[in-house]
Amino acid sequence: MKRTAIYLRVSSDRQSQEGDSIAAQRQALTKYIDDRPDLVLAGEYIDDGISGTKYSQRDELQRMLADVEDGKIDLLIFTKLDRFFRSVRHYTAAQAILDKHGVGWTAIWEPIYDTTTPQGRLIVNQMMSIAQFEAENTGQRIKQVQAYKVTQCEVISGNTPYGYRIENKHLVPSEDAESVLLAFQTFERTGSINGSLRELAGVPGLPRIQKDFKKMLKNPIYIGKYRGNDHFCEPIIPLQLWERVQELLPINIRSNQRQTYIFSGLIRCGECGCSFAANTRRRQRGNYFQIIHQYRCPKHFMRKPAQCTNPKVMNENVLERYLIENLSSMIEKTVVEYEVAAKPARDKAARIAKLQGKADKLKELFINDLISLEEYKSDKEKLAAQIDALQAEAAEEPTVNTEALKQLQGMNFRGIYEGMEPDEKRRFWRAIIKVIHFDQERNIDVEFL
Ligand SMILES: [Zn+2]
Repeated sequence: MKRTAIYLRVSSDRQSQEGDSIAAQRQALTKYIDDRPDLVLAGEYIDDGISGTKYSQRDELQRMLADVEDGKIDLLIFTKLDRFFRSVRHYTAAQAILDKHGVGWTAIWEPIYDTTTPQGRLIVNQMMSIAQFEAENTGQRIKQVQAYKVTQCEVISGNTPYGYRIENKHLVPSEDAESVLLAFQTFERTGSINGSLRELAGVPGLPRIQKDFKKMLKNPIYIGKYRGNDHFCEPIIPLQLWERVQELLPINIRSNQRQTYIFSGLIRCGECGCSFAANTRRRQRGNYFQIIHQYRCPKHFMRKPAQCTNPKVMNENVLERYLIENLSSMIEKTVVEYEVAAKPARDKAARIAKLQGKADKLKELFINDLISLEEYKSDKEKLAAQIDALQAEAAEEPTVNTEALKQLQGMNFRGIYEGMEPDEKRRFWRAIIKVIHFDQERNIDVEFL
């Protein structure tokens, strides 16, 4: 038996003239299954053709594809190909999922398209490759135009590299070119991206984070090269310096020591509210170095003069120990607080479910031709507006899933935790903690998700 899914979609403007209302499509598809002893109905997916609003959007096609991925469907049928997909892009994405799970489809009113037979498959493939070819050709054409512009040294994107400005479609060095040269020279001297960033902190306009700084140092535009054109613009960096920097980049001091900071992004300064910065200290222990991870307020430590009063440093292992020891009691307290706070949200959820039920009944009426498209549309829009309003309100209220927290309470997480890798530990804390506040009296205040 083939578990067969029915996919229906109404196109609201044409359905009356062409006689392919949802009811008519549904009847034909059901009959198709009834006439074939090897098919059994596995599910019905009906897109009503009215695009949903922000909250009430429910794409039945997505639900159907999810069921395909769950292995609930062997065959998909619909009336016509244009009922199944709206664009080549939509089609290709959906077809990839169907192919992966060996699900064929048949357009029962257009038997020429039928991926369950070799001939049908060939026709569909041909038709799709023509459409694909057209789509790609457009992309190809744009690439050719761009390539031509590059040979003419004309800028093709709006992103001007730092140190240049655009003049008559060409890049020319700007007043910031000096800073770029300084950045290359600083890196050549220090051999360290972090070291350069620290030294160059006062230079306006230069990238402030490692990734962007590195990207700048690797950019061949600074020796005038761009997309195969070696003389695209006037160089800012002498070739010899640029090449030396490329040699130094892979051995950037620090770059081979990837650190996993278990609490990065989770700790906030209890005084100024900004996210704590993590760093590594090495402490000599006999003949080896112990690595210590620390977190501290960047506004206190990395600004001169300090912009925050919090001078306290949190050691990672101290925080871990504290959390493990106190997790149970903190969770207990939080669960009680959450359950009190979440009552209004639960009431709203019940009202939303009720309205959703009404919407489903309405759809049923429409599908069975008991109400007109106009009635359906206007009633559905009213319901959707009410649901949206409630959902928007509910989104403002604390949403809580105390179940997960309660479960955690019963677990022997201490034993599990000790066996975890740093990456796993990091995921573990991220899964339960929203933020940890740490103030200058060393108070630790944990907010759970
Ligand atoms: Zn601070």
